[in-house]
Amino acid sequence: MKATNVLEELKRRFPNEPEYHQAVEEVLSTIEEEYNKHPEFDKANLIERLCIPDRIYQFRVTWVDDKGNVRTNMGYRVQHNNAIGPYKGGIRFHASVNLSILKFLAFEQTFKNSLTTLPMGGGKGGSDFSPRGKSNAEVMRFCQAFMLELWRHIGPETDVPAGDIGVGGREVGFMFGMYKKLTREFSGVLTGKGIEFGGSLIRPEATGYGNIYFLLEMLKTKGTDLKGKTCLISGSGNVAQYTAEKVLQMGGKVLTMSDSDGYVYDPEGIDREKLDYIMELKNLYRGRIREYAEHYPGVKYVEGARPWGEKADIALPSATQNEINGDDARQLVANGVMAVSEGANMPSTPEAIRVFQDAKILYAPGKAANAGGVSVSGLEMTQNSIKLSWSQEEVDEKLKSIMKNIHEACVKYGTEPDGYVNYVKGANVAGFMKVAKAMMAQGIV
Ligand code: NDP
Repeated sequence: MKATNVLEELKRRFPNEPEYHQAVEEVLSTIEEEYNKHPEFDKANLIERLCIPDRIYQFRVTWVDDKGNVRTNMGYRVQHNNAIGPYKGGIRFHASVNLSILKFLAFEQTFKNSLTTLPMGGGKGGSDFSPRGKSNAEVMRFCQAFMLELWRHIGPETDVPAGDIGVGGREVGFMFGMYKKLTREFSGVLTGKGIEFGGSLIRPEATGYGNIYFLLEMLKTKGTDLKGKTCLISGSGNVAQYTAEKVLQMGGKVLTMSDSDGYVYDPEGIDREKLDYIMELKNLYRGRIREYAEHYPGVKYVEGARPWGEKADIALPSATQNEINGDDARQLVANGVMAVSEGANMPSTPEAIRVFQDAKILYAPGKAANAGGVSVSGLEMTQNSIKLSWSQEEVDEKLKSIMKNIHEACVKYGTEPDGYVNYVKGANVAGFMKVAKAMMAQGIV
């Protein structure tokens, strides 16, 4: 396999899908060497079968808004690969959603899920519906209409969706309710459910906490930890909030948070009480981050910008893809950042990744660092299957140990001759090998 040839062919067959091409290129360029050690893989054309999703469902979602207008959105589910378990991956509701974005996310998810060591394949879905500015009733009607199509393609042993951008506990609850009504079955078909109906403790916290557990493992390799370290966090949604919470618990200082309108910089640090304010603002009132700066004196709000120009020890991108470009990365490095650990999926552009790696700073790609979310989703599936609920401590311990194992796998496959750990290569090779072996064993299907 020659990575560039495979990529060119994919670009020819699936044009106008830049995010999908970007994710595939990153993986192929790092697994090429390992792949070529196994001529049997190439004979079975494993690489194309791994890059092209098993199937994609695409449908129209029609719903009625509060004013009685009939609205349409597009709905999708990309079932990428189920060699090691049922398809598993979140649902994203955001105006920017398109097939390229969902294909990149489903592709990444396949390797991430493999890394967790849990039996989960990769998938992703969503809609170009944006919950922003919609009433509760509108969100409910949309979720119900979306599930009216999706339900026939998913199931607890087939495909188990979860949340992602724009899909939190509220949306998962509405979708679960409709699935249950349609199938007359109470099952673990979605994860991220409410705690009263099959949800797992620590699931809301899992992605953010997991990212910090991973970061701590990386810092340990440099003989340090988070105490007294300053952190830049982007986003103020689920991942960002619990990333901030864990940073505070570990003795770090959170300087920034953001949303799609801009970022806030608090030189005093966003402490526990201030984080509670953000959680209430975002989760209860669905407000804007700008209001934080209006509420607390001495806080700077920068409209239409991302926080990467600020000086700090650690960067924790937790909003969306391609939110750190080459210039941002150079600025971060010039300001002395020592670690970047990705809560979001693919937040750094390929150029930004090169800048971090050339500077030899600790850099963890999302598929390793944010795998805590899907890991606890996997634990939620297990609890649903055995009809038991584990305690907070039990789930948190399991999460910690999974993140530690992922870190070890990255070090094993990603350590370069000079001792620098290329976490991108480590995560890709470790994730790839397991899926590849399972696919080989299962024949040409
Ligand atoms: P949320 O919807 O809860 O929060 C997303 C945050 O990012 C919001 O603050 C949002 O601002 C901001 N944001 C979204 N899109 C953009 C954009 N285009 N530009 C700037 N800011 C933006 O989502 P999550 O916290 O769940 O997800 C964040 C990231 O983490 C995503 O990349 C997701 O794929 C990834 N992830 C999530 C997991 C999970 O368990 N939830 C698991 C693994 C990865 P605004 O309010 O203005 O829209």
